[in-house]
Amino acid sequence: MQWSFVGKSFKTVGMARQNNYRPYTPDPEFLSLLPEKKGCEVNGLGETKARRPTMVWWAPDMDVAPFGKAQKWFYQREKPDPELMDLRAKRRDILDAPLPDLAQKPISRSPQEWTDALDQFVANGDCEMTGVTALQPEWVFDHLETEFGTVVMLAVQHQYDELKHVPETRGGIEVTRQYCRAAAAAKRVAGWLREQGWDAAPVTGPMVGEILLIPPAIECGFGELGKHGSLINPEFGSAFRLGAVLTDAPFAHTPKRSFGVDDFCTNCKVCEDACPPYAIGPKKQMVRGAEKWFVDFDKCIPFFADTSGCAICIAVCPWSRPGVGLNLAGKLAKRRGRKEVSE
Ligand code: SF4
Ligand code: SF4
Repeated sequence: MQWSFVGKSFKTVGMARQNNYRPYTPDPEFLSLLPEKKGCEVNGLGETKARRPTMVWWAPDMDVAPFGKAQKWFYQREKPDPELMDLRAKRRDILDAPLPDLAQKPISRSPQEWTDALDQFVANGDCEMTGVTALQPEWVFDHLETEFGTVVMLAVQHQYDELKHVPETRGGIEVTRQYCRAAAAAKRVAGWLREQGWDAAPVTGPMVGEILLIPPAIECGFGELGKHGSLINPEFGSAFRLGAVLTDAPFAHTPKRSFGVDDFCTNCKVCEDACPPYAIGPKKQMVRGAEKWFVDFDKCIPFFADTSGCAICIAVCPWSRPGVGLNLAGKLAKRRGRKEVSE
């Protein structure tokens, strides 16, 4: 396999991978700001019982969150790039804009018509993918509550030619740009629902909202969890960001999809080798009652903070390269078909 990665970070020639960010030594000042309780423990590593998630990073109120001091360091550390600051301000404006009033009389459509109507947001370029699933209680953060029973998921695709520059500022700008788009899309969908008489609330990253975003995205068919702890989708690889809308509008649910990512990740080491602080391991782990791919938060976060957001693992994932994911999914489906026939 041959991979090259822009910038100084990661280069593969033949089988000899070179990672110029290794060895990595965390900044002692950052380490001194971390709370005593490790992030992996807060995340439920090793716990065999299912429970609701606890917020670790991306706290909206850094003054009270256990990782708040470290999170502030992350923001103070970053180079003040004007484009990045503009995008941050734009995202803030999007989030601060009020939602339309809730219309008195709810509009009636069949569940499938409601789900089909979401296509308008893809056709208009607000986002690249939509899906719907029932809200499961174990996705709701343990310090928050919601009365809503349905999650509308939205995905916005990265421009790979920009994303591939992570962890340098150019890549970080692309990440922020797509968080902006995801926030705008979630606000638009929530506004549209409210104008149709159905209450709705947007959930936007990267700050923690009411719910985890990856589990509902898996459930509504956006993709599968990769070894790097992010989603992999056949069309976009891992080069996309999520937004969501909580509502009770009676949408039809979109089906879960499987296309062989789990097996593929078992035999691939690209993100493991590319992760400077060795935060990505070769095996799944037990986390809050489920065995899954798991990124070691405590190894990842010093480098993530040092580089103002890292994202190397999603950029190097082979599925993220334009045109590769669908091809890979097709080959894996054929292989599965051959296996089934021969059994
Ligand atoms: S780089 Fe390889 S192992 Fe890592 S998530 Fe992507 S496919 Fe899976
Ligand atoms: S984001 Fe974290 S897990 Fe991914 S490559 Fe960077 S340090 Fe490693």
